[in-house]
Amino acid sequence: MDHGRNYKAKHEEMATGMQLGTVPFKYLGVTVSPKRLSILDCTILVDNVVDRIRGMGAKHLSYAGRLVLIRAVLSTLHNYWTRIFILPKTVLKKIESICRDYLWHRKTDSASPALVAWERVCRPKRQGGWGLHNLMVWNMAVVAKYVWWIEIKADHLWVKWVHDAMCEWYPWPLNAWAVPKHRFISWLVGHNRLLTQDRLLSMKIIQSNLCYLCGIQQETHTHLFFKCVYSRRCCKLVSDWCAEPLPDEDCINWWCRKRYRNLSKKKIVGVILAGLIYHIWMARNKCRIDQELLRPEKLVQLVKQDVRNRLKKFQIKCTSVSVLNWIETIVKS
Ligand SMILES: [Zn+2]
Repeated sequence: MDHGRNYKAKHEEMATGMQLGTVPFKYLGVTVSPKRLSILDCTILVDNVVDRIRGMGAKHLSYAGRLVLIRAVLSTLHNYWTRIFILPKTVLKKIESICRDYLWHRKTDSASPALVAWERVCRPKRQGGWGLHNLMVWNMAVVAKYVWWIEIKADHLWVKWVHDAMCEWYPWPLNAWAVPKHRFISWLVGHNRLLTQDRLLSMKIIQSNLCYLCGIQQETHTHLFFKCVYSRRCCKLVSDWCAEPLPDEDCINWWCRKRYRNLSKKKIVGVILAGLIYHIWMARNKCRIDQELLRPEKLVQLVKQDVRNRLKKFQIKCTSVSVLNWIETIVKS
């Protein structure tokens, strides 16, 4: 029987000039198999993810930089592997855990908890996340798309998406004019997920939760960024500089709710507030580590510098003369 099959195969090879192969085989670096890929088949994929993350000077990147790197690594997966194969859940979970550990701890394997759940990070920006794809959902969706193309495209069954209720501060991450690392810290503040003293106390890591900046009140997110006398002073100086009234409350929610006639102006105020939040957090960390409190005037200088540099990067298309004059004043003053 085998002899007959071999004879037939040889005959076909001679007739076509092509060699008869067997599955599984490698094509463009990936295993082609009539069966689902095994965990072993995907080892190369996991190794690639780890190598890419470790190989890009990744230890020195900020949160925002690490997010960009993760997005790049995942986009490779999205554009190739997950479009072709249904990958094992274990492999997808492993890749997600590598990305999650790297985002929060600069390592590809860490037992420490994350500041924000990965599910929240993966939510669309309009729902308060960063728009990363949930690998398992994405994998099933893109593979299922082939079925859609073949069988049900004409029926337009997938035309409605269910929109969740939007969290109040959702537009903040959408403000692409803001400095990425400022946006990321602001996003963490919006989620109440920075490791402030009250959170560390609740984890029993520290004994006291006094604010580093004023030394009087308890350090919570609301106090540190919006109520502390130090933060209020910084906010007042920034408000004077940009000639724009800023709130003495949660400025993220305030900014999201506030209506501006001109969208460019709203976005620039968002850039300023994100810079203010970021530098308050940096000043707080410096105070914690070096026991040195940055003067509010110096902090505001840093905010101004970042905002000016950012505004120079964008060609702001705005027809309002008053807003253009306002921008010019900010950049020059
Ligand atoms: Zn304080």
